[in-house]
Amino acid sequence: MSALREKIARLISTQGPMDISRYMTMAMSDPQYGYYNTAEPFGRSGDFITAPEVSQMFGEIIAVWAIATWQGLGSPGPFALCEAGPGRGTLMDDILRTGAKLAPQWLACARPVLVETSPRLVKIQQEKLSSHPVKPQWIENLDGLPQIPLLLIANELFDVLPIRQYAACKGGFRERMVSLSREGSLCFSLGPVEAAPAPAKKMPSGTIVEISPARLALARQISRHLARHKGAALIIDYGALEPGVGDTLQAVSKHGFCGPLKNPGGCDLTSHVDFAALAEAAHSAGCQTAAMTQGAFLLKLGLLERADRLGAGGNEALRRQVTADTERLAAPDQMGELFKILCIASPPANAPPFHWEPAPTQQSPEQRHPEQQH
Ligand code: SAH
Repeated sequence: MSALREKIARLISTQGPMDISRYMTMAMSDPQYGYYNTAEPFGRSGDFITAPEVSQMFGEIIAVWAIATWQGLGSPGPFALCEAGPGRGTLMDDILRTGAKLAPQWLACARPVLVETSPRLVKIQQEKLSSHPVKPQWIENLDGLPQIPLLLIANELFDVLPIRQYAACKGGFRERMVSLSREGSLCFSLGPVEAAPAPAKKMPSGTIVEISPARLALARQISRHLARHKGAALIIDYGALEPGVGDTLQAVSKHGFCGPLKNPGGCDLTSHVDFAALAEAAHSAGCQTAAMTQGAFLLKLGLLERADRLGAGGNEALRRQVTADTERLAAPDQMGELFKILCIASPPANAPPFHWEPAPTQQSPEQRHPEQQH
């Protein structure tokens, strides 16, 4: 048994079953044995590969978005260029490099901020970004953001934030918990019957509903900053744009799936992101939202043109690699459709390439709750 599995088993045997949210938090972030503090998950040789690690073109297109969005805001002077959950720092590296080339004025106003909880990854990011003349700031959570306009990017962060699962049953819902089997291995069990965890329609017994207070809290915090100081955020992840049900908890190791309870701390634990719930949180904080697939976003902002230019400078092998990377990022059967991009923006939103409907709530939270005004 791994050391972390033993630690979790000991806790369960003394305190009883733990909810999935606590299990995920321990598996991913335990200071001693947590996945992000011990493993080297990213890249072709790791457990999974993320879009910025597939190709520099991903970060280049995000930079184009950030420059155009800043201009759409009226080029408001200094702004926080924030990446939340930056992994190896590759995306920020590509954004800063592209900004220096395409828009030095934009870069001169950018205050790069990286939000990271893993001390091990902070070191890797610091090294990666050390050659840029603009010196980034590292913070552990968004409370440390400077009170200025914000452009924020979060790629594959929300899927790692913990969830809770509930199974529909006669008379309500039962929370899915992590317990110990008679043989002493980790297994799922169900807690006592309780009321619906979120507004839920009637559904067949056994249907799993997932909620993530941690994701909603983060979306709310980003949105409040945007509503107050202006700006926009891109939340990029896999999941559905429409609300849905079902068990999406998954564990990935060496580019393949394994059981979520098999090897806590040894594989990446994630679940699909409920974008509709994040959009609702953003609206209630006074922001507008729009969404599209990753494929559509990249193509609309010029991925194919960029790939042509990049390929034109190299040999046949490079051209083949660029074509493969382009397909990996944008083809519908690869990352193009599974991954979605939710844009949250302060009203009146004007961030390309999204189509902006008038906001469902055009009022600021203060206008809607005058009794809370000070
Ligand atoms: N965006 C990167 C890495 C994704 S993995 C990429 O696309 O390659 C998730 C990242 O989020 C890791 O850097 C992890 O340490 C970080 N992370 C996990 N929980 C976090 C939290 N609550 N706040 C900020 N970062 C977090």
